[in-house]
Amino acid sequence: MTKHTILIDNLAFAKKNESLTGILMLADCSRLDELLHHAAEISKSNSIPSGSISYELLGKTDAAGQPLLNLSLIANLTTTCQRCLNEMPLKLTLNFNYLIGEVRDDDLIATEIDSSDDFDVQQACQSMDIIALLEDEIIMAMPIAPTHEKYCGDMVSQSGEKPNPFAVLKGLIKS
Ligand SMILES: [Zn+2]
Repeated sequence: MTKHTILIDNLAFAKKNESLTGILMLADCSRLDELLHHAAEISKSNSIPSGSISYELLGKTDAAGQPLLNLSLIANLTTTCQRCLNEMPLKLTLNFNYLIGEVRDDDLIATEIDSSDDFDVQQACQSMDIIALLEDEIIMAMPIAPTHEKYCGDMVSQSGEKPNPFAVLKGLIKS
């Protein structure tokens, strides 16, 4: 199996206002896949973890000409409820802004003054690994001990489960 990679020149991507959208399968994300498999090993269901991640990456520059990236993603994953040990769907809606640093680390701190809360700094890189970035962000956003929102039994017995409106809100607040 060849490993799927997506590499961009992040500085050029931002300056040319490029965009990139796509859907990744869990099989493309080995670290995330491993994490979910590990969770499945303690589960009663023994189902094979599955999931997909749709993403959109936008390059832009701000009024001051600083190169920026905006990443939004929706991850539909299956994980294991830590209370009932049955599988549970996990949907993450995430949004990130990155400032591409063209300068040395110590200079970045000075230029970052009022945007420090809204932007993460990424070093300028001609081969930025987008799958690794998506995986990092999803892994960091994963709940440490996911459990069904209310009653474990309910979720399992209801087919065609409705997305929890509060879970969607939570994703929006984080952005
Ligand atoms: Zn549960």
